[in-house]
Amino acid sequence: MQTLNTTLLIIGGGPGGYVTAIRAGQLGIPTILVEGQSLGGTCLNIGCIPSKALIHVAEQFHQTRHHHQLSTLGIGVSAPTLDITKSVEWKDGIVDRLTTGVATLLKKNKVQVIQGWARVIDGKTVEVGDTRIQCEHLVLATGSKSVNLPMLPIGGPIISSTEALAPTSVPKRLIVVGGGYIGLELGIAYRKLGVDVSVVEAQERILPAYDAELTQPVHDELRKLGVRLYLSHSVQGFDSTENTLQVLAPNGATLNLETDQVLVAVGRKPNTQGWNLEALNLDMNGSSIKIDHRCQTSMRNVYAIGDLSGEPMLAHRAMAQGEMVAELISGKSREFNPTAIAAVCFTDPELVVVGKTPDEANAAGLDCIVSSFPFAANGRAMTLESKSGFVRVVARRDNHVIVGWQAVGVGVSELSTAFAQSLEMGARLEDIGGTIHAHPTLGEAVQEAALRALGHALHL
Ligand SMILES: Cc1cc2nc3c(=O)[nH]c(=O)nc-3n(C[C@H](O)[C@H](O)[C@H](O)COP(=O)(O)OP(=O)(O)OC[C@H]3O[C@@H](n4cnc5c(N)ncnc54)[C@H](O)[C@@H]3O)c2cc1C
Repeated sequence: MQTLNTTLLIIGGGPGGYVTAIRAGQLGIPTILVEGQSLGGTCLNIGCIPSKALIHVAEQFHQTRHHHQLSTLGIGVSAPTLDITKSVEWKDGIVDRLTTGVATLLKKNKVQVIQGWARVIDGKTVEVGDTRIQCEHLVLATGSKSVNLPMLPIGGPIISSTEALAPTSVPKRLIVVGGGYIGLELGIAYRKLGVDVSVVEAQERILPAYDAELTQPVHDELRKLGVRLYLSHSVQGFDSTENTLQVLAPNGATLNLETDQVLVAVGRKPNTQGWNLEALNLDMNGSSIKIDHRCQTSMRNVYAIGDLSGEPMLAHRAMAQGEMVAELISGKSREFNPTAIAAVCFTDPELVVVGKTPDEANAAGLDCIVSSFPFAANGRAMTLESKSGFVRVVARRDNHVIVGWQAVGVGVSELSTAFAQSLEMGARLEDIGGTIHAHPTLGEAVQEAALRALGHALHL
């Protein structure tokens, strides 16, 4: 067995791990990154990027079909066809460009990448096949895995998001189990590809992590698209001879829903199994590794970042933690203490939450002004054929410091940057209301929400 020595060893090459490695390389820290599958992790290979690519394909197809059938814009086209193999090839091309780019950046920053599955021996030793690596600092960045339902084991017609993002053909019917953001992003995309889609959700609302006012426009659009919703329904099992999903209705009746595929999207859990993590006997926080405000675990010089360290399981959080950990190891003084981390659902319409919602502000004992501005009064939204949704601001009544932003509407994912910046910079309602926002943009609704909170919206 050969032995390698390094200052920093990172297990996992997802956004958390590869960003740690790039920053460490920039800071001159000798670094080894071990990745068992593909650089870029869940995010680039089977998560954020492939899902947004498929959503784009679906949107283009849906729009073309709309123009073929009834174009309010005066566009005439013949009925579109879909070659899903080509669509998947296009998506794979993007994934390939991005993962190759990550490999190039790692090389440029002199990071040694070892392909293989790491097995932890102790806090300073890891084995990959017949290579033993010894390090001074160990960063655990092994990400997360889909939660499986025992009555719906993945295989054949039962698929996870990974299979849903690489279809070889488009099914006629799909049932999505789970009305969270992954299930809805994919369910809406499949519906727009022409699939008969149903969503089964155990709770009484879709996107149960967000408040009802915010999710209503998504709910309305699902209805408009013809997605059937089985809310407060729970899955009991799948009959593979009849191709039916058995679902328990709130009135106690069992429904047998016929389908070609079932997409299980009921959440993700930290990837703590199968790589001898037990050897470290780290303190846990539920199913994730317990970390402090420097991403340090209960063992000295052992860090955990990204999905492995729990919620919010988002790529940008993993990257920010990774960048900070690399700087800490280089001797800089850093803490992971963001005012807010934006969460975006790329549903139709899109939904953004940054900072505190009105309920959260209330629960935190803050006396807040809550104000919203509808996209129905925003010119840019109209030119994008979309009038649904709104921007909502939550600000302290005493000093007008903004503590939260929420928005739902077409293209609002791009507003998340302005929202996060305003919170990090401690902006007050007057700062946003007094900033000239370009016309015509969706961003004008952000300014108007702040002005409305101050009692003088201009366009309402
Ligand atoms: C369908 C889908 C859509 C998503 N969309 C978004 C989105 O729009 N925005 C967003 O912010 N987040 C999104 N996410 C979540 C996002 O992908 C994760 O939050 C992010 O990838 C977490 O990064 P990470 O570095 O912690 O882990 P991962 O990206 O999961 O990377 C972990 C890596 O570690 C490797 N690994 C694991 N064990 C070992 C071992 N023992 N040895 C070597 N290597 C190992 C794995 O192969 C993997 O490459 C989505 C997820 C899914 C599934």
